[in-house]
Amino acid sequence: MTTLGKEEQLLGTVASALVTLDELRDLTAFRMPYPAKVQSALDRLALHCLRRGARPPSSAPGLVRWGYQRPLGSWPLVLPTDVYPDDGFLVDKLSGAPTALCHEIALCAEAANPFLEVSRQVAEMAAFAAERGRTSAYGATRNVLAAHPVLTEERLSSMVFKPGVRVLDEYLGKFYVKIGPGFAIDGRIHACDGCGGLLLPAGEEGWWCEREECAAEGLVTPGEYWDYEVRIRVQGDRRHRQFVSDPGKAVLRLGDKIARAGVRVEYWPLTGTGDLRVTVPGGEARTVRIVDWHSPALLGRAIAASVAGTGADIAYWVVAQYRIDADPGYQRIATEHAKSSRIFSEDQFADMLRQEASSHA
Ligand SMILES: [Zn+2]
Repeated sequence: MTTLGKEEQLLGTVASALVTLDELRDLTAFRMPYPAKVQSALDRLALHCLRRGARPPSSAPGLVRWGYQRPLGSWPLVLPTDVYPDDGFLVDKLSGAPTALCHEIALCAEAANPFLEVSRQVAEMAAFAAERGRTSAYGATRNVLAAHPVLTEERLSSMVFKPGVRVLDEYLGKFYVKIGPGFAIDGRIHACDGCGGLLLPAGEEGWWCEREECAAEGLVTPGEYWDYEVRIRVQGDRRHRQFVSDPGKAVLRLGDKIARAGVRVEYWPLTGTGDLRVTVPGGEARTVRIVDWHSPALLGRAIAASVAGTGADIAYWVVAQYRIDADPGYQRIATEHAKSSRIFSEDQFADMLRQEASSHA
């Protein structure tokens, strides 16, 4: 794994504190004493600022303000600029929620092997399913997770009792948690038209969706909505959504594209760490992981840690297409930091398999 420099560690501590604050949901109601993680981040940042002759944020709301007012380049920290973009922010100004980048920084600071860390809950379910030989129930459950970021309690009950899922009902139920009142606007909860996740109000600008893919496609617009009384459940915490369930849509999309090219596609294989296992006629099975990270450098580091953890570079890493479309340097940077040549965009990977399949036909 990458050994973080002191100032990178401090940034990681601050990012973790901002994630903790967000989990308290109501950003307007900070009270003393702050959670230990938050207080410790404030103290460490204050000490660092004193040494630098800078004025530190004195409270949790002040820290959140730093998050959306100061791009990383103007924090009093010396950071490797190839990893932390000068114009990156830790908190989204419109919604007050941590950015995807903030979550990536926090995760990488907290876990030696980020991919292993975020997949624990799914891995536990996979182990249970494998023990009982329930491959199809596992696949059906993963499909529900990929397709439904949000469910009403009624819908969740009907999913849990589906015959295909049933043996894993307890696991599926645990993935969906109650939401706080922060999502309600005039007694209503709104879902994003693009991804089906929940929207937060974002002042006069309209709406904020935590998925950067939705914003990348243009204006975020509200879709389905419910009365607050309906009891909505959302999948996991933000970390689970960002790193595990949100890329699930790209998994389904890519699998479909590849299957149409005549490649055998197995979704959510029970063994190993892949999202897909694909086999070109006459070829060997390949393990594929679909990833959707804001920072190509942090993604590269996480891949390097995963490769070091498994002892071999066995997976093909496919980056959500919109990330590579938006940044011509993305793939190069991720590859450099991962020290792996197996990083592709969705289109590149599908083209490669299509060519292999047609040359065999
Ligand atoms: Zn969305």
